[in-house]
Amino acid sequence: MHALRSFSVVTESLPLSYNEHEVFMRTNSVTNLPPFSNEPFTDFTTAENKRAMQEALSRARAELGHTYDLSIAGAATRTTTTFHSVNPATPSEIIGVHYAAGAKETLDTIHAAQEAFAAWRRTHVSDRVELLLRAAAMIRERHFDFCAWLTLEVGKNWAEADADVGETIDFLEFYAREALRLDSATTPIQYPGERNQLRYIPLGVGAVIPPWNFPLAIMAGMTAASIVTGNTVVLKPSPDAPTIAARFIALMQEAGLPDGVINLVQGGPEVGRTIVEHPQVRFIAFTGSKKVGLEIHERAAHTQPGQHFIKRTVLELGGKDTIIVEGDCDLDAAVDGVTASAFGFNGQKCSACSRVIVADSIYDTFCDRLKLRVQALTIGAPSENFQTGPVINEAAKKRVLDYIATGKQESRLLVGGSEKDLPGSGYYIEPTVFADVAPTSRLAQEEIFGPVLAVIRSTNFDDALTIANNTEYGLTGAIYTASRDTLNRASHEFHVGNLYLNRKCTGAMVGAHPFGGFNMSGTDSKAGGPDYLTLFTQAKSIAEKRGYVNEAVEEQEERMGI
Ligand code: NAD
Repeated sequence: MHALRSFSVVTESLPLSYNEHEVFMRTNSVTNLPPFSNEPFTDFTTAENKRAMQEALSRARAELGHTYDLSIAGAATRTTTTFHSVNPATPSEIIGVHYAAGAKETLDTIHAAQEAFAAWRRTHVSDRVELLLRAAAMIRERHFDFCAWLTLEVGKNWAEADADVGETIDFLEFYAREALRLDSATTPIQYPGERNQLRYIPLGVGAVIPPWNFPLAIMAGMTAASIVTGNTVVLKPSPDAPTIAARFIALMQEAGLPDGVINLVQGGPEVGRTIVEHPQVRFIAFTGSKKVGLEIHERAAHTQPGQHFIKRTVLELGGKDTIIVEGDCDLDAAVDGVTASAFGFNGQKCSACSRVIVADSIYDTFCDRLKLRVQALTIGAPSENFQTGPVINEAAKKRVLDYIATGKQESRLLVGGSEKDLPGSGYYIEPTVFADVAPTSRLAQEEIFGPVLAVIRSTNFDDALTIANNTEYGLTGAIYTASRDTLNRASHEFHVGNLYLNRKCTGAMVGAHPFGGFNMSGTDSKAGGPDYLTLFTQAKSIAEKRGYVNEAVEEQEERMGI
């Protein structure tokens, strides 16, 4: 495994005559931090890594069915009601048993976060950064164990689980560095005769409500961004992936998380609604479906008695992501990219390709090649590392099969089209492709969030662009072409938050591909990018007229860049 990265915290001596606390806040620093780089992917073809993953799966299996407490102000808390998560590949296998929060625990959690905010907002940024770096190092050490839990609780194959864990480490490392950068921010100019400062201060108590499909990376990323900027958090994970979140909180506590800074409640929509509406919850960081995101947006906009701020919502929602394939492209690369984007994690990614728009000149050849490629995908238990696995639950299976039934009426089935009965009775559906799909049909417009791909024919590039931009979403998109002019036009006219040229439309990398969508795909927060942390702060501008305090102190402060 990777070595722990070392870093240290230094405190410079403080001038005494200025506001001591403020000066302390601006001069402490984490040093020796290497520049950010993405966590490497694990090569599971080596015998060593294969064995490590199998051993981690055995360790996780030995702990299946364990009961996990809620965490309120650092205290393990139980209620009278429990629910459990199951392995989507073997639904009879219980992964974790969790206490369901009632109204009292939910309110207690918000109260705990409010209490902890008073101290956490004043905790030095270096301490907050150190916490994230420590957690990243610990996850790096337990990389395979987290992979194993992702495989068992949500059905990720090894590579998909590895990418989720790697992205989690990346978010922690990246936001740690970004917090330091934000802390050293200043005004663009110094007005003559004044000393001007710009400080990014926290908002208060935040709700973090993640989806089940990146139950570690997105959950940890939104949480880390919230706390490294000085906010405290009420975290409500998805009921489909509560165990991953509980294990992450346990790790954060081991890493030194102060009581009340992250509070964990488990439950469904009712718990989520109570948190969103609460007058002391200052912001909501949500990633999930368009339907729920819009409901949260409306609820948060409704001012509650006793509320004295406008709630902020950071909403990252669904997609109907498109790849355009032009006649002059490298066809092998396009077929590979479309297949990986559409069927990686069974199409259960917000960025998954669910429509491919193919130039008339290569349409039939592309369909033939795609059919062969998709037919070759193996399907089976994620723990045995098949290429595709089950969808998350019974409701998802029914939803996807309903879309397949619609597709069979509206268009031509190219490959797949049925559920699959495999040992373990998991929620398996064959990777499915429909050809000759009409650009405005349901299959071409609605997010399916499963292993279903629509192929649409385009008459020319103008037509392809018009179709690509014809949904209410705008999350990811890609284009395969050998023409520089076509790429340039796509860069300007393909209206998505994350556009990829001659590569697949999934697999955004922290730092390199800040992530977030346009239109109904969300508020375009650009997770993993340089603007993300500002969403969790408010900027305070301070202007001081010079000449009213000891000049020697001012000079010393200037030298220190305070
Ligand atoms: P979901 O909207 O059903 O649930 C997301 C979270 O919201 C869960 O924790 C859920 O318990 C909670 N919730 C449900 N109803 C609520 C309510 N009324 N009030 C408050 N909270 C509520 O989404 P999901 O099925 O978990 O995830 C899949 C969706 O997430 C897809 O639409 C996918 O495209 C989207 N997604 C988007 C991104 C992105 O970055 N844009 C990333 C991953 C997933």
